[in-house]
Amino acid sequence: MKSLDITRNHMVHIYKRKVDLRSKFRGAVFLDRDGVIIEDVNYISSISDIKLVKGIKKSLEYFTGLGVKIVVVTNQSGISREFFDWNKYEQITDKLIEYLGSKVMITAIYANGYKDQLSSKGWRKPEPGMLIDAANQLKIDLTRSILIGDRLSDMKAATRANIKHIFYLPGANQCEMRESISERVDSNGYFFDSNLKARLGVLNSLEDIEMDKIIEIIK
Ligand SMILES: [Mg+2]
Repeated sequence: MKSLDITRNHMVHIYKRKVDLRSKFRGAVFLDRDGVIIEDVNYISSISDIKLVKGIKKSLEYFTGLGVKIVVVTNQSGISREFFDWNKYEQITDKLIEYLGSKVMITAIYANGYKDQLSSKGWRKPEPGMLIDAANQLKIDLTRSILIGDRLSDMKAATRANIKHIFYLPGANQCEMRESISERVDSNGYFFDSNLKARLGVLNSLEDIEMDKIIEIIK
C-alpha cells in the first residue's frame, strides 16, 4: 500500500493510488466491496474472515491489464457503530489487495463510516455522493461507467450518480433483495429510481461478465 495516498478522518477513508489519471477509457468500473470483492460477512473485522468472491480476481486482472480505472465504493457503518476502527479497516484492505495479487491495480477505494443518511452528507449509499466525488477526483465520466453491487442501495446510488449500466450480483441469501430490485425494473430491463434510469444486468456470478460489452460502455 506504499504507493497509495490515504485520506482519513473520523467518518471518511480514501485510498488513492498515485497514478497518472489519464486513461484511454472515459468511464470506470465501480464496485461495492462486501459481497462483490469479498464475501459479505457482517461487519468484517478479522483478516481471517476475508474470502475473495469467485471470479473477482480474474475480472479485475483483465480490467487492470487494459488500463481501466477500478474504483471501490463501500459503506462501512461498522465504524460509527464502533465494531471496528479505521486501523482495522486498513488491515483488511491491505490483505484484500494482497489476495487480489500484483496483477490487480485498484485505482481508489472510497469508504464512509456513517450509519445514517442524514449525517452522511450524501456519502452513504444509496446517496450518490461517494461516487460523484470519486468521479470528480479521478477524472471519470460517470455516464460511461458501470457499477457492480449486491444491494438495492448500490443500484440506487449508481443510478442517482448518473451511471447508466449497473450489474446486480445477488448474494447467497438474498431472495428478498432480488425481489425489491425486480420491483424497480421496467419492461425494457431498466432499473429506475424516481425519474432516473440505468440498464440493469443480473449476474449469477462474476464469471458471467461479458468483458467486451463493458469495454464498449466505458470507452
Ligand atoms: Mg455489498
